[in-house]
Amino acid sequence: EIRVRYAPSPTGHLHIGNARTALFNYLFARHNKGKFIIRIEDTDTKRNIAGGEQSQLENLTWLGMDWDEGPDIGGDYGPYRQSERMSIYQPLIQQLIDEGKAYESYKTEDELEAEREAQRANNEMPHYVYEYAGMTDAEKAAKIAAAKAQGLQPVIRFHVPEGRTYQFNDLVKGKISFEAETVGGDFVIQKRDGMPTYNFAVVVDDHLMKISHVLRGDDHIANTPKQLMVYEAFGWEPPIFGHMTLIINAATGKKLSKRDESVLQFIEQYRELGYLPDAMFNFIALLGWSPVGTNEVFNRKELIKEFDEKRLSKSPAAFDAKKLEWVNNQYVKKADSETITDLSLHALIKAGKMPADPQPNEIEWARQLIALYKDQMSYTAQITELSDLFFEEPEQLDETAMQELVDDSALPVLQAFRAGVTQITHFTSVQIMAAVKQVQKDTGVKGRKLYMPIRIATTRSMHGPQLGESLELLGRDKTLKHIDQTLA
Ligand code: GLU
Repeated sequence: EIRVRYAPSPTGHLHIGNARTALFNYLFARHNKGKFIIRIEDTDTKRNIAGGEQSQLENLTWLGMDWDEGPDIGGDYGPYRQSERMSIYQPLIQQLIDEGKAYESYKTEDELEAEREAQRANNEMPHYVYEYAGMTDAEKAAKIAAAKAQGLQPVIRFHVPEGRTYQFNDLVKGKISFEAETVGGDFVIQKRDGMPTYNFAVVVDDHLMKISHVLRGDDHIANTPKQLMVYEAFGWEPPIFGHMTLIINAATGKKLSKRDESVLQFIEQYRELGYLPDAMFNFIALLGWSPVGTNEVFNRKELIKEFDEKRLSKSPAAFDAKKLEWVNNQYVKKADSETITDLSLHALIKAGKMPADPQPNEIEWARQLIALYKDQMSYTAQITELSDLFFEEPEQLDETAMQELVDDSALPVLQAFRAGVTQITHFTSVQIMAAVKQVQKDTGVKGRKLYMPIRIATTRSMHGPQLGESLELLGRDKTLKHIDQTLA
């Protein structure tokens, strides 16, 4: 049975890279009718943040993922939080010690740092040097007893076998092999505070939870030989590994790093801007994976059907925020207007453009306004800039717009339209457009020379949604005011 897991450390909100890891595991599980499991890796207690787990799960749910086992719903292989699995790790660590595959290490942080310093000065790769080298069992026991008497806390280190090569067949990258020497010496499997390290706990959990495939970011490739050593020490069969390529920021060409402030990287931030979950899901699925063919818009069901791990990309995935806007716009256009109205209204209220508790007539007005801009919006928070005209003092005209008004016919057109506007009985788009037609009859001006001056004078812009609807929503007073400001 295919069993895969997403194993976040609750150190922050859901990052786009982690969301991608979760999503590919999810698609792989659902495509193969396997199980998708969530496990919280919270043994690095200093880095955990309050609410981190909750926020991760919440954002996964928002994206439209569900799981078969996890910390919130349990399952047959729980607990699903590493901090609650201490009684599972302890005897296994003891077993390795008893078998001579792990041991207590008392080198202090200062000693280790000095050791690495000397190695660097010597142009060597920093590595841990076995502290009981050349000692008899009795000497080793005496050294440990002395350290204990001093009250020192040990870490437990794993004995790295010498002269071995560790190989695996990566689902994405193909054959990979590491010499045992490259892992930097005997590594820690239990910290001074008694917590297991990632490289130990991940093996124990993946084994006991019967994980068949480990799909994760390729920043974990160098950890894989250590994990293979632990599998070997227990005589367990390792899962199949697949390491996904890193993500680069398309704008800078650099590796996407959480410190890069030029682009939003947390799911929460996109959510707040009114991005749609289906669009995010679609976009993330294309980060380092591609379907057959050229279509790029797929719903969740289709992605589950199409997903093929063989099409995970070997080269870096480019995170292109502009493409995300494009994808989201595809979904905004298709979304029902109620969804888009709710999200956009939320944005208008948040921006202080609408009262927090709008009246029914205000909501109706906003609904029409939002409908005007729906097809244009990359994301719904954009409504606040797109609809500036309706909330702010009109903008100064720019050079090009100004040019449009110098034509001889512009002045009579605007004067005639102003007169027409004052005479309209019901200020609706139909009557407004009838007034425009009347201007055409009266002045003989038509086409662009007719519409452009009216549009620019009333909306202060050369572009925008339908003129009639826009002016209806703007209202007669503001329409007149804008024309007067232009004529002045
Ligand atoms: N907790 C690890 C991380 O967040 C999981 C890595 C793995 O999938 O093995 O990077």
